[in-house]
Amino acid sequence: MTFALSTASRARLATVHPALREVVERAITLTTVDFVVVQGNRTRDEQMRLYGQGRTAQQCRAEGVPEAYAQPGRARVTWTLNSNHIGGRAVDLAPYVDGGIEWDNSGRLGLWPRIAEAMRAAADDLNVPIVWGGDWKSTPDRPHFELARGWDRPDFSNVVSNVRSTEPFA
Ligand SMILES: [Zn+2]
Repeated sequence: MTFALSTASRARLATVHPALREVVERAITLTTVDFVVVQGNRTRDEQMRLYGQGRTAQQCRAEGVPEAYAQPGRARVTWTLNSNHIGGRAVDLAPYVDGGIEWDNSGRLGLWPRIAEAMRAAADDLNVPIVWGGDWKSTPDRPHFELARGWDRPDFSNVVSNVRSTEPFA
């Protein structure tokens, strides 16, 4: 069984770092469970709105988040204002089964380990270091995959110039 990214998934994926985009595009060809991209890049304002979920006006004010974003009655969805989603260094993926997202959390992580396996294999193939939120001990974030903090695509220009400087075969 092979899967393909939907139009909506592709549109969300277009907002993230090219290296992460390539990893997801490869992962969809390797995965044993279909998945969708539910979130790509976020603006700082979008992150602040998410931060307001599950927090009081006072808690928001303490972190410089507009009090209007406070929604203390809702479940918390994020633990940081410094998300790697800002700047397009993270994506959220979710298993897609029988026409819908499969949130089942049997075994705690549900079907996500199968997505993570495909993402790891794709990242290894492409030499892109990624981190899966499902591995976080205190607050696992199953849908979340991000580029390793501080990593960016290396510059290969030196390697290329070295190759060119070698003597041609006689
Ligand atoms: Zn995320």
